[in-house]
Amino acid sequence: MIAPWHEQAWSQFVSARGANRLAHGMAITAPGDFFKQDLSRAIGAALLCRSPLANGEACGSCRDCVLLASGTHPDWIVVSPEDSAYIKIDQIRETSARLAQRPQIAPRQVVLLYPADRMNTAAANALLKTLEEPTPDSYLILCSERHERLPATIRSRCQAIAIKPLFDERWPAALAARASVSIDAARMALVLAGNDPEVALAIASPEELGARASVAKSLLSLARGQIEPATVMASAGREVGIWLDRFAALLRLSMRDVPLSSPFAEFSDLTSRLEMSRLFALQREQGRVRTLLGSGLREDLMLYELCCQWRDAARGIN
Ligand SMILES: [Zn+2]
Repeated sequence: MIAPWHEQAWSQFVSARGANRLAHGMAITAPGDFFKQDLSRAIGAALLCRSPLANGEACGSCRDCVLLASGTHPDWIVVSPEDSAYIKIDQIRETSARLAQRPQIAPRQVVLLYPADRMNTAAANALLKTLEEPTPDSYLILCSERHERLPATIRSRCQAIAIKPLFDERWPAALAARASVSIDAARMALVLAGNDPEVALAIASPEELGARASVAKSLLSLARGQIEPATVMASAGREVGIWLDRFAALLRLSMRDVPLSSPFAEFSDLTSRLEMSRLFALQREQGRVRTLLGSGLREDLMLYELCCQWRDAARGIN
């Protein structure tokens, strides 16, 4: 079933296909994670399936669907980095050679490149050639971590299938079902994740939501002068990076106009009363400390400074 966050992108794919305007190369784009891989696979499955459903989705039960689900469909080709961080030219050449042959059992061959933005220059140039001289009955789906990192020459030769974050009330329910958590937990995780369901999936567990609530509580206590910056610093322990990510997500709560549960509601209330310039300064400082992690500078001291900056900004407005 197509998830509610993929519906617009799915209709775009289905109507292009119906009108015979589906490009040989497709690039999945999104403003974040948004389960892009799931959508890529759903498109691949729909292209291989013999008897798609009325909404264009793969049936899940024909021979092609069964083979695809078991990971043994000969016309479904996944290209990912193997022994390095990058997809290499040999992998692209090998893929082009396969595409030059006829499909084995399906009416067409489908290639998924993931993450397509992790290609070295030689591989990207080879891929460009494949995109420029398409073999009939073949499709390439480019799924990137960040679409904008793809070379412009490749982007311009692909049809963008765009995931648009049009949040609606079905999202928390869909995420709750996927994460096996309550709808309230899913809703809260979506808010903390800026409505990116894939990011929210990692936040929705009771442990992670609890950890984030305790960061919010300690920052509130610090703002009220009930504890010292050193206490907050100590609570982060060695996981400074994780603490900073949680802090960054909390700071973004001030920009949202949605009902929150405690202590996020109190935290959001406090940050929305901060002066904008101070809020931006905190966000900048958080980003700066994040990039300096692992550089040899004392992480505990940087965190201490950040906590002091938070206290000074928040003191007096609550
Ligand atoms: Zn099928």
